[in-house]
Amino acid sequence: MSCCILTRSDLDAPGPSRYAQQSIAVGHSRHLSLPMAAPYVALPHQQRLRADTPPLDDENDHIKPLDGHKPIFHGGFDSQLKQVLRDIDIHGCEANGENAFFVADLSEVYRQHLRWMRALPRIVPFYAVKCNPDPYVLQLLARLGTGFDCASNGEIEAVLKLGINPARIIYANPCKAASFVRHAAANNVGLTTFDNVDELDKMKRYHPSCKLVVRILTDDSKSACQLGLKFGAPLDSVPRLLQRARELDLDVVGVSFHVGSGCYDPDSFRDAVHRARRAFDMGKEAGYIFDLLDVGGGFGHDNFEMVAGVLGPAIDHYFPDEDFAPGGKQVAGKPNGLRIIAEPGRFYVHSAFALATNIIAARRGEPTAADTEPENDKPQVMYYQNDGLYGSFNCVIFDHVTVHPKVLTLGHEYAYEPTIVSPGVAVDSGDEAKELQPCSVWGPTCDSIDCVRDLVHLPKGLKVGDWLVYENMGAYTICAASTFNGIRRSEIRYTLGEGQLAETVKHLMLQ
Ligand SMILES: *Cc1c(COP(=O)(O)O)cnc(C)c1O
Repeated sequence: MSCCILTRSDLDAPGPSRYAQQSIAVGHSRHLSLPMAAPYVALPHQQRLRADTPPLDDENDHIKPLDGHKPIFHGGFDSQLKQVLRDIDIHGCEANGENAFFVADLSEVYRQHLRWMRALPRIVPFYAVKCNPDPYVLQLLARLGTGFDCASNGEIEAVLKLGINPARIIYANPCKAASFVRHAAANNVGLTTFDNVDELDKMKRYHPSCKLVVRILTDDSKSACQLGLKFGAPLDSVPRLLQRARELDLDVVGVSFHVGSGCYDPDSFRDAVHRARRAFDMGKEAGYIFDLLDVGGGFGHDNFEMVAGVLGPAIDHYFPDEDFAPGGKQVAGKPNGLRIIAEPGRFYVHSAFALATNIIAARRGEPTAADTEPENDKPQVMYYQNDGLYGSFNCVIFDHVTVHPKVLTLGHEYAYEPTIVSPGVAVDSGDEAKELQPCSVWGPTCDSIDCVRDLVHLPKGLKVGDWLVYENMGAYTICAASTFNGIRRSEIRYTLGEGQLAETVKHLMLQ
């Protein structure tokens, strides 16, 4: 893009980033004073799934932090999956007794928060509620001191219902219903985004004292879900927007962007920060002094540190201390200097939920001579499981992901080995039941679009009644699941996790 004049080598300045050492006052957030009780030990996937968790002692070994809500158990994914399966009699249970179910490990959310604080200590996360509005996730994040990015009336209500101060909400939707804006005004939600003139008129009419953030368009071509098609003001339209905001006497306080969800190129963030800086300069020309930079969402689970390693220094470079620290030239009259927030969604919940599904039916083809030829990768078995694209696997369509089934039981015996990548069992043991064969996996509805995987290799010994498990199902899954065809949404079994992190989470949830 024409505005990318900075090269990578400019960012690779020697020495540690000032950015990482800096700690600034961040207004209403209290998370910087949070004692980090549990040390960050290892990357989440290295210690997430452990097989040696002791079983629950008794029925009382759980807590119930929200009135009327479900209990929260103790132990890692593996122990929880085992517990639930032990209580299900697939040959005798009532209708829905073998339904698919999630295990949600809240310590994973906490672990991600520690990861965030380590890599981007200066950026206050405002969790994007749409990604997974689970009440326990929201409650834990509230206790950790994050803010919340809400995009609708319902999300605002969900957050306020937990007793969270409306000052910790950004209504980060540039195209809002008028009635939602009035409701936000009535509930003291005082920060929102805009990217068009009509929205300014709406804000003037229904919530004139609201602080506004101009959402700019950035390059989202390196992201799984591009948002620029729908949102974001191109930089060359920003002066006109700000001029209109001035005429309406509205209080524009900063700039936001979203590089797209599932962003795999850290340079998108660097480029976006550069554009945001240009928008700050446009603000100055329009007579505003901006002091809020909102770097949006798009943070992934696997490449987070790499992205942070580009984003942090880019902020240092484009928003240097001499201009933007408290007392800096560009933030005269704003005593706290530049405040930086983000709107991570996926990053916080991706790894915190695993989904177990039951194989309710199978259709096996007659083996032909051609099927035994290794290069003939045609599905030999169609498995039908009890959650699909109309339910939790809507992510296959909306979030453009490929999901990876792992074997949870094989021939009705618990077989899951969490550390083994898909299919989740050791397949080279010479055991025929563990030999792989090409299969397809389908959901429970009567629609043929409901195909979870059209080709995947699973062990030959899988039977009807066996269980599969899908890890990393926390983001953009449950929130968009329907009950099409009368199939219930999959329920959630909560756990605190295990070890020191679990103790800290328990303490936080019981506050
Ligand atoms: C969806 C969304 C987010 C969260 O994006 P992730 O990729 O899940 O981090 C943040 N901000 C806005 C405005 C969004 O629409």
